[in-house]
Amino acid sequence: MARYIFITGGVVSSLGKGLASAALGALLQARGFSVRLRKLDPYLNVDPGTMSPFEHGEVFVTDDGAETDLDLGHYERFTGVPARNTDSVSSGRIYSDVLEKERRGDYLGKTIQVVPHVTDKIKEFIDIGDDEVDFMLCEIGGTVGDIEGLPFFEAIRQFSHDKPRGQCIFMHLTLLPYLAASGELKTKPTQHSVKELQSIGIAPDILVCRSEHPIPEKEREKIALFCNVRKESVVAAYDLKSIYEAPLAYHREGLDQAVLDAFQISPAPKPDLTVWQDVADRIYNTDGEVNIAIVGKYVQLEDAYKSIKEALTHGGMANRVKVNVEWVDAEVFDTKDPAPYLEGYHAILVPGGFGERGTEGKIKAAEFARARKIPYLGICLGMQMAVIEAARNVAGISAAGSEEFDHEAGKKRFEPVVYHLKEWVQGNATVTRKQTDAKGGTMRLGAYDATLTKSSKVAEIYGNTSIEERHRHRYEVDVKYMDKLEACGLRFSGMSPDGKLPEIVEWADHPWFIGVQFHPELKSKPFAPHPLFADFVRAATENSRLV
Ligand code: GLN
Repeated sequence: MARYIFITGGVVSSLGKGLASAALGALLQARGFSVRLRKLDPYLNVDPGTMSPFEHGEVFVTDDGAETDLDLGHYERFTGVPARNTDSVSSGRIYSDVLEKERRGDYLGKTIQVVPHVTDKIKEFIDIGDDEVDFMLCEIGGTVGDIEGLPFFEAIRQFSHDKPRGQCIFMHLTLLPYLAASGELKTKPTQHSVKELQSIGIAPDILVCRSEHPIPEKEREKIALFCNVRKESVVAAYDLKSIYEAPLAYHREGLDQAVLDAFQISPAPKPDLTVWQDVADRIYNTDGEVNIAIVGKYVQLEDAYKSIKEALTHGGMANRVKVNVEWVDAEVFDTKDPAPYLEGYHAILVPGGFGERGTEGKIKAAEFARARKIPYLGICLGMQMAVIEAARNVAGISAAGSEEFDHEAGKKRFEPVVYHLKEWVQGNATVTRKQTDAKGGTMRLGAYDATLTKSSKVAEIYGNTSIEERHRHRYEVDVKYMDKLEACGLRFSGMSPDGKLPEIVEWADHPWFIGVQFHPELKSKPFAPHPLFADFVRAATENSRLV
């Protein structure tokens, strides 16, 4: 039976609850415990798959094909535990399950209410796989006091009562604002937010206080007294130069010890932090820098490409170089020469994306990288654009384009080198899709195998010819163009096992030009950088030393 840690936030949003949860997960693992992390999100979308990356940041895809919150990415990057469909739930999903049951007649005769029907459903969700791990960490999205979060707070309150005493604890993140005029850290917002929690029946066991200044002992005592927690359980969270220092920093501040004390686990197993010491060492002790351009559409919100940014950082760690990422808006050079915007970068990455806006710029970026022999990594849409570029400019298919853009525009303008995928194989079954299908959750999602060509660059990089990577796409490079493109030098070096879906392309005569239909960034970890990112950064570093 697992022990449960519920993580909530107060005062303001964006305090780093996800990071704190992930770092705590890593620290518990360092003490020999097994963990699983879950995210409970109060918004009404069934999942984030249909939300704009501008609003919500990236969609993190799990092996089993769920489109989840980007916090699950943090969880995986820190713990290495692959997230599952059942690790992320929103109000939307809970309500749609409850309403579906109601329509089916499962509650026949009853009045369906938030308490108990919605809260029961939430509790059921929290409990899934309870016997598999030592600790289940459940983060509640949003801030205490949000109207839509109430059913979740009520559910975790009930949950802790349903379980035997001592099996659940509550950890609350708050902010200690600093008033420069008086030179003081203010504890009142923290007191109010704890009061808010207490008014719904939850007494936090641990307070994690974000602060830009050292928290004096006196303030710590005050918080402990007013918020009814032990002084040792008031844990400071200071700003860090790198998020990957978080496990070490939280350990220094005593978070994992406070958690074990709250569960009365004694003697506490000693932590082995060597992995995190090595990670911090690789981040802080670098030799050289590389500048990499991410040419995309959602450049205003860095969270839109969160995992890519992190995977590049991991690639830097593998090579002990600092990776400077710059976001370049592809739309700006849709109809212009991209050179003034792209010159000077040591490598170019074109990430995933949806819709036509900015794609002509991305095609130009691929052409620029190919012609100038600059390392290029195209991910999903970034691979599709590289293939369209090859088709147009090398294979002479001047009208080459993607059906995605024709569908969006409602007219046919392109030769569909990238077409709408209607059928593919998953395990032993064939999955089918129509263009008119609902948008949510209907893409080719999750982990699929690919077979790599022996002696290709990717096979060398992976050190293997069979790989498994996560996907999230609706369109696909049409295999019928393979022969023509290969004759021009674009190798189709990775295919789905049935040989029907191109998974990887690479230019044979280029130092490093690879396009992948999947999302390698989702599986990269600071302690195990993804081979494609590690090698891409290596190539960028080599390029930086040439100029
Ligand atoms: N829009 C493209 C597709 O659906 C690419 C998706 C992506 O980049 N994740 O195939």
